[in-house]
Amino acid sequence: MCGIVGYIGYEQAAPILLQGLEKLEYRGYDSAGVCLFNGKELQVEKAKGKLEVLKNLTNNGEDLSGTVGIGHTRWATHGEPSDVNAHPHLSESGRFAVVHNGIIENYNQLKEYLISKGITFRSKTDTEVIAQLIEYYYKDNLIDTIIKVLSKLNGSYAIGVISQENPDEIIAVRKESPLIVGLGEHENYIASDVPAILAKTRKIYRLENNEIAILTRENVRIINTDKEEVKKEVQTVNWDVSAAEKGGYEHFMFKEIMEQPKAIHDTITPRIKDGRVVLDEISITDEQLKNFNKIEIIACGSAYHVGVVAKYVFEKILRKPVEVDLASEFRYRDPIVDDKTLAVVISQSGETADTREAMKEAQRHGAHVISIVNVVGSSIASESDDVIYTWAGPEIAVATTKAYSTQLAVIYLMAIYFGDKLGNISEEDYKMYVSELEQLPDKITKILEHKENIQYLASKHFNSRDVFFIGRNIDYALSLEGSLKLKEISYIHSEAYAAGELKHGTISLIENGTLVIALATHEKLIEKIVSNIEEVQARGADVVCLACENHQEIKNVSQNTIFIPQACDMVLPSLAVIPLQLFAYYVASLKGCDIDKPRNLAKSVTVE
Ligand code: GLU
Repeated sequence: MCGIVGYIGYEQAAPILLQGLEKLEYRGYDSAGVCLFNGKELQVEKAKGKLEVLKNLTNNGEDLSGTVGIGHTRWATHGEPSDVNAHPHLSESGRFAVVHNGIIENYNQLKEYLISKGITFRSKTDTEVIAQLIEYYYKDNLIDTIIKVLSKLNGSYAIGVISQENPDEIIAVRKESPLIVGLGEHENYIASDVPAILAKTRKIYRLENNEIAILTRENVRIINTDKEEVKKEVQTVNWDVSAAEKGGYEHFMFKEIMEQPKAIHDTITPRIKDGRVVLDEISITDEQLKNFNKIEIIACGSAYHVGVVAKYVFEKILRKPVEVDLASEFRYRDPIVDDKTLAVVISQSGETADTREAMKEAQRHGAHVISIVNVVGSSIASESDDVIYTWAGPEIAVATTKAYSTQLAVIYLMAIYFGDKLGNISEEDYKMYVSELEQLPDKITKILEHKENIQYLASKHFNSRDVFFIGRNIDYALSLEGSLKLKEISYIHSEAYAAGELKHGTISLIENGTLVIALATHEKLIEKIVSNIEEVQARGADVVCLACENHQEIKNVSQNTIFIPQACDMVLPSLAVIPLQLFAYYVASLKGCDIDKPRNLAKSVTVE
């Protein structure tokens, strides 16, 4: 999820690695490290915190000798940010070093196996199993060993390996996590992202899944896992640094929108084992779960909107009363919370001040707190009773997209897991929910493939002065997020309204040309929302409707309809939110707004 860089050549490697890592700092990270072959052995220097710490430790790399090395900036997923959990990781004897981006889903199983064979682990990371497995299986051929190790790993990875056995080689491989090879004169590079090597070379190979790159100073070979040579085209990168940081897209927000299928996949897949949802990070006993008489969800901003979706989902599946509170309100309202309350606290950064204080308030009243957090080791993650991490990776744009989506994914996992424990889900429904969850990444990819339709609608409406998002039930919860996204980044005034509530007041604001975005994905209430569409159209509104593709008849009511793939009610918000994010993005882009850093807003709100 974070940064990799590797160098093999004739120059001192460490300063080059540090300069490369510096170019990856924009992604955010919690620790950094390098490993060099110093002519005798592998030498690792790594430290928690900013790259500056590592630079000071190594005199900007000058104190480390060696012309081959790998470096890493870490965004922790397994094990808190610390010196020992930072990469690179060495095998037990120190002969093999590994840097890794991504998640090894079956690391626990592998770790237990290796421990049973007498191997001692130093860190809490999933990554260390890779280094230990290489050593465990190594006989005399590193490539054969790595191919064997890959066959044992589940999950997503970009990996760089150096060793004492083959000190004149870097080996790199990827699956579902980006990795490139940079081609120089008498020197070669690996990197997770283009900016890391842009100052050195513009000629690259982009590795595909399961391709293995073997780099020496003078040569790069690419093979597949059957050891067959792979012919690759050399690509020339024309991007400047700023475009390269965004993967060639114009904005981080767009890049992050496009990353959602992977982020959801990474969050869900490790928690579904043999068709069952397994949340073994949670300590709540079945007894405790049964005894909770209320669920209290606490969050701010988009995370609060996840909470509103969760209310519909939890009440339907868990059959327990759910309250959703804005953290800034909850903390001062003398809430009715006790040890029979399960509090769910949601925060991307895990540092949101209001949410953190509200969490403490809930704990003071005796509630058991589960937090849903993206940043490992953050304050909320450490202080809550249990934490379920979203694995969205670093989110840079201020307006959240992939963190929101992965928070929703965790809500579904919790609903299925708890629903099953409470005996509320039939076996048939259980299978259906799990299958719907697993299909989400592909369905989202399908929506993203048709993004031009949304761009067209944005081009028709980007001059709107007021926009109303309306929906019923879970569509209402979603309309809150659609409206917030638009106003955050495009500065257009917008409101979210429960569609049935319109005629109790807000309909007086509808006039000729007012844009109404009507969410009509909720099967059972489709006729009701159709009536609301007719009502606003009769008063001059321009309606854009969002519906599932099995409801083509909606075209008879609304001229502009965005269709999304069909899915069960529970997961529909995850599909429907994509066009809303894209709409906000394209509108803001057409208006020339500063999309990644909207005025007056901060990414992590650490003040009250
Ligand atoms: N899962 C690994 C860890 O927690 C890699 C994290 C990353 O991609 O930076 O150490």
